[in-house]
Amino acid sequence: MSPPSRSAFDTVVIGAGLGGLSAAALLARDGLSVLVLERADHVGGAATTLARDGVAQEMSLHMTVPPGGTPDPKAAILDRLGLRDLVDFVPVPALYELRSPAVGAPFVLPAGMDPAEAALTARFPEAAGAIAGFLDELRGIQGAMALMSERHDGRWWRGHLADLPRGMWALLRDYRHSLSQVMQRHFGDNEALKLCLAANLPYYADDPDRLWWLGYGVAQGGFLAGGGAYIRGGSQRLAEALAGGIRDRGGRILCGHAATGVLTDADGAVCAVRHVRGDRGTAEVPCRSVIANAAPHALVDLLPAPAAEALSAEIADRPLSLSLFHVSYRMARSGSDLGIGQYATVLLPDWMQRLTDWRAAGAALSTHPHELMPPLITVDYGQIDAGLSAAGRPAPITVTGIDRVSNWAGLSEADRRARKAAWIAAITARLEAEWPGFAAAVQSAEMATAETMARHLGTPGGALYGFAPEPPARLMSGPPMRVRTAVPGLFLGSAFSGFGGYSGAMGGGAGAAAAVRRFLG
Ligand SMILES: Cc1cc2nc3c(=O)[nH]c(=O)nc-3n(C[C@H](O)[C@H](O)[C@H](O)COP(=O)(O)OP(=O)(O)OC[C@H]3O[C@@H](n4cnc5c(N)ncnc54)[C@H](O)[C@@H]3O)c2cc1C
Repeated sequence: MSPPSRSAFDTVVIGAGLGGLSAAALLARDGLSVLVLERADHVGGAATTLARDGVAQEMSLHMTVPPGGTPDPKAAILDRLGLRDLVDFVPVPALYELRSPAVGAPFVLPAGMDPAEAALTARFPEAAGAIAGFLDELRGIQGAMALMSERHDGRWWRGHLADLPRGMWALLRDYRHSLSQVMQRHFGDNEALKLCLAANLPYYADDPDRLWWLGYGVAQGGFLAGGGAYIRGGSQRLAEALAGGIRDRGGRILCGHAATGVLTDADGAVCAVRHVRGDRGTAEVPCRSVIANAAPHALVDLLPAPAAEALSAEIADRPLSLSLFHVSYRMARSGSDLGIGQYATVLLPDWMQRLTDWRAAGAALSTHPHELMPPLITVDYGQIDAGLSAAGRPAPITVTGIDRVSNWAGLSEADRRARKAAWIAAITARLEAEWPGFAAAVQSAEMATAETMARHLGTPGGALYGFAPEPPARLMSGPPMRVRTAVPGLFLGSAFSGFGGYSGAMGGGAGAAAAVRRFLG
């Protein structure tokens, strides 16, 4: 590798989403010189909260596992950065209420393994043993993850040698299986029970046949064991806290600066990043390493030919995770006043009778609304002290569901606008049927689609959780996420190198920071 310029940054991070901010903050804390380039005018990426007329609109977060309760990268990162006290995680009382013709009366899945087991067994007494077996498997995965995340010396490991096979069995037993396969083994054809347990499937994937059981077990098991939490004041608070951690340690963040090129030296290693600010021209920053928080697919377009080909070959056959649509409502009345009883309510349409019916959900928005209403996750931020609205003002309500960029392909701007308006009307009517008075209480409604996600975040297909969390092809071939790339000095620090979501993106960023430290020596 050529000797780096003396003025080179140790690392340039492309993108100020949670993965990029976590990586940059950790490296700045270790004394490395760091520059973050973000093309938007604010930090956060998907973790954004927009202020509208006295009400903050949440652009992504429903819930994340609170730091501390279960093994989760957020806690370790915030603790190492000394930022834990700056971010207030507000617990969510129950994971969700499910309303579904396939299930009958509304079913509430409480937080906590034991309360969840009691609620499921009360609703499905005939499946009590199967429910206990399934939750035990999730408990086992949580236990094994906790064991692996603890730091112990050789003596401790020798003393616990006898426990290891049992702990690790939870990870190995269904290592290559999908959620569908594990649920089928436990519950057979009890589809209502499967739907009750997987009502928040869009937090992970849109196809239970291709959702890696272990990835699901870590994330959903984390929610069941430790509950969910929202960030008081909005997800942007987490992003701002990480950005503060970067600046306090001498790191720089340039918003409104899009990276337009990653340059390599004669040995093919990254050596500089080119960026632009609006029409104010191009600048080149020399650097010793680059962390891509932007999707790796966007990086391919920024690299010179041989490096671009190498990165492209690495990601070519890796399927993408799902995208979502999102409707933000500003309300004249509170959700509880309208009869909404839970923070998150999942409304499954009558055509969804089986777990595998989730596969059809993503196509619903490919036409104007007619008989195929998609499954909807409604979040009423007023059910908790979310800190999104001024005193006396009702909190916002959002509705989220699975979407695809292809649903909107080829439409003229006028047709796109008309289809969006029609879907907002159809979704509002669906909520009105559930909670009479809802429609009249709506002050404004805005819709973001998979196309919006792709455009704003620069992510291919609007993918929001990085690569699809599919079962590994071979035993012990490892989870399908990697931080290193074939290009020397280029690392992935995002949902594309973690399991996706807030914890996954931050974990991906921490992994990239560790790899950069090793690379720079
Ligand atoms: C509606 C919705 C609901 C969600 N709900 C949840 C939830 O409840 N819980 C949960 O855990 N997760 C949720 N997620 C997913 C979660 O938000 C994401 O997985 C996570 O925030 C991704 O973070 P990231 O750092 O990988 O990337 P991103 O947030 O996508 O950030 C990438 C950044 O790179 C920037 N960028 C791209 N190209 C360039 C360039 N050339 N130069 C400079 N900058 C560039 C982008 O502007 C962006 O800021 C949700 C997402 C959405 C949209």
